[in-house]
Amino acid sequence: MGTTSVKTPVKRTSRDIRTANRYEVLRQIIAESPTSRQELAAATGLSLATVATLVGELLDLRMITEVGFEDSAGGRPRGLVAVNASGGALIGVDIAETYVRVELFDLGLNVLARAIEEMRPGENQPEQVVAHAAAAVGSVVMQAGVEGARVLGVGVSVPGQVDRATGVSEYAPNWDWHDVPLLDLLTEHIAYPLYLDNPLRACAVAELWFGAARGRTDAVVVNLGTGVGAGLVLDGRLHRGVSNSAGEWGHNTIVLDGRLCHCGNHGCVETYVGAPGIMLNLRELSPDSTLLHPEDQTATIDALSRGVVANNPVAVKVVRDTARYLGAGIADLVNLINPEVVVLSSWVAKTLGEPLLDEVRAAVARHALKRPMAATEIVLSPIPTDPVCLGAATFALEGALQSVGQRATAKRTIPARSRTAPPS
Ligand SMILES: [Zn+2]
Repeated sequence: MGTTSVKTPVKRTSRDIRTANRYEVLRQIIAESPTSRQELAAATGLSLATVATLVGELLDLRMITEVGFEDSAGGRPRGLVAVNASGGALIGVDIAETYVRVELFDLGLNVLARAIEEMRPGENQPEQVVAHAAAAVGSVVMQAGVEGARVLGVGVSVPGQVDRATGVSEYAPNWDWHDVPLLDLLTEHIAYPLYLDNPLRACAVAELWFGAARGRTDAVVVNLGTGVGAGLVLDGRLHRGVSNSAGEWGHNTIVLDGRLCHCGNHGCVETYVGAPGIMLNLRELSPDSTLLHPEDQTATIDALSRGVVANNPVAVKVVRDTARYLGAGIADLVNLINPEVVVLSSWVAKTLGEPLLDEVRAAVARHALKRPMAATEIVLSPIPTDPVCLGAATFALEGALQSVGQRATAKRTIPARSRTAPPS
């Protein structure tokens, strides 16, 4: 890449800050409906006057509604607002290595429809992936019976590094994708506004809004799937890094001169605790194990999960060995970030569940410093649906709010200008 990838620092304008505040207020309303302006001010740290203005704008946009009053001890009754669930629909697309899952949400982020397309091993050309995504998006819109005009946007999560501004998948190691113009390809099949990001960030936002990181200032969301990474919440906000690459912890070296990784490095965390890495842990321990389903990650992880429950010694040992690598890697994150909570997310964590969690807790405790360890909780994601779809939908909401916000600002400024125009 040439000099075009060098980014000059972008100064945050007052409109950016206003958009961010509007988004923050809406997020609180979605999480806590019904709520009052006073509660919103307390939760966001914004002044009551600012909150009142932003609530007014969101009412104008019909994203929220007035829903009555609550008594405040002795004072004036407080007006309550709630999200207007039917004020629009959002779609979250979780493109993973082995499936494409799509969910359609109302504005309260309740799931109205879902669709899944399984992808066969090796089915990973951009056109194939796009066709699956487009089919699933078409399916959820039809199932939910929503008019196209009500779909505010589609958030798309794709593994690897993405450029949000250009919609390019810069690098997806497991598919060997380099600079794939994914958003352009999707636009040929999907008529709604599209917003691209990756599962690390989607999972982190899902936990921050609705899961184990809610109300926490510092959190790490460890994504355990085919690929591995960490979504970072620092000081109550999603941390992206300067080029949207923060959290690529799956490619930290955990074993010097260890297993070769798709990224070209040796001994990456992912090569020991991602689904293909776990399969290799199993193969090295017991090459002829019936738990092993060559070429089928999902079936193998399912078999291991059942094996642990049945006390199969090979399955127990594979999960323990995997947890040892994972524990050492998570201990790095605990020492480095000092998080309140570490959340284990994505399909491998969900499938292996509590037995993996117990082993991971013990392993992290062996490696991390006592002080940050004592301040950290390690939990499984409590989100019952697909956190990646949920997080991706919030990116669509953020994008939609930015564009409607700009239109709303424009509408408000025009009459103001004409009023103050000098007489000609
Ligand atoms: Zn790597």
